[in-house]
Amino acid sequence: MTPGRHRELSSARQRSRADHKAASVRAGAMRALTLEGRRLALCSDYPIPRPPRGESLVRVRMAGICGTDLELARGYMGFSGVPGHEFVGEVERSAQRGLVGARVVGEINAGCARCTRCRSGLARHCPSRTVLGIVKRDGAFADYLVLPDENLLVVPDTMPDEVAVFAEPVAAALEIFENTSIDEHERVAVLGDGRLGAIVALTLRARGYETVIGGHHPEKLAALRSVGLKAKLESELVSGFDVVAECTGNSAGVSRALELVRPRGKVILKSTAARSTKLNLVPAVINEIALIGSRCGRLKPALEMLERGEIDPRPLVCTIVPFERAMAAISAARQPLNFKVLLKM
Ligand SMILES: [Zn+2]
Ligand SMILES: [Zn+2]
Repeated sequence: MTPGRHRELSSARQRSRADHKAASVRAGAMRALTLEGRRLALCSDYPIPRPPRGESLVRVRMAGICGTDLELARGYMGFSGVPGHEFVGEVERSAQRGLVGARVVGEINAGCARCTRCRSGLARHCPSRTVLGIVKRDGAFADYLVLPDENLLVVPDTMPDEVAVFAEPVAAALEIFENTSIDEHERVAVLGDGRLGAIVALTLRARGYETVIGGHHPEKLAALRSVGLKAKLESELVSGFDVVAECTGNSAGVSRALELVRPRGKVILKSTAARSTKLNLVPAVINEIALIGSRCGRLKPALEMLERGEIDPRPLVCTIVPFERAMAAISAARQPLNFKVLLKM
């Protein structure tokens, strides 16, 4: 990856590119990648969303393709509409004056604001929540998206788009610490050498934990070693880890995690997969293993960690694809040897 390839365009040039593209689609319409009945298609006449009261209109600058997006296209969550939940954009319309023109990332869960969970600050678990590009809310693979004003966080000027776009996956990795305490001396294994496993391992290491990542692809493991991670073939990992974070994307990974963790250890479940397979949980009973589910996290600490440079996710970017070629970008993201594919609007 040569950093020069992804050098930022000047903002003026970007604006004129955006103006040109806006002119090429009819008024009130935008480009969007849509998912309908498990079929992804790129269109140029999707209606630009209108922000309801309390929400802002954000012009997407860059979006990341996540394993969850690929699973949605396999039927996960039964979603139809515009997928995409990892983004950095610019606020175009908002009742919050201070936000207009700001470059932002966004918390993807939008709660009802009334229930007890929302009032306790846990909109991520509101029973009637919508989730950007995942549950009843169009997402970031489009020129525009809308999110509640309070979900938006301003990105520091010095942070490039291709770093800011990782705020959401880093937040999901940090979520591990919200409901699991890991002692500083504990040994952690991350199962899965995909984009999720890589981000989780980078985050754990940035928090000071001795972490080893186990996977199936020697090429990817070599790439992970080149960013300073300890990476091994999964078959070479030896049981006895205090904590195993399961990031493989399939339930066979859970069985393997149960083998690798020590008695009374913890298995953190991070995979979201459309397919379910049979899973024998008896080892978890015999060895008294804590199984801990973990999903989305808070964006603020993630953005701060990225700003401090504690994690640099850029080596994980294998390509930045113009949005016109979104279908090719999806194919690239499906290639098992690729880490992160980014879409540039
Ligand atoms: Zn994701
Ligand atoms: Zn609620």
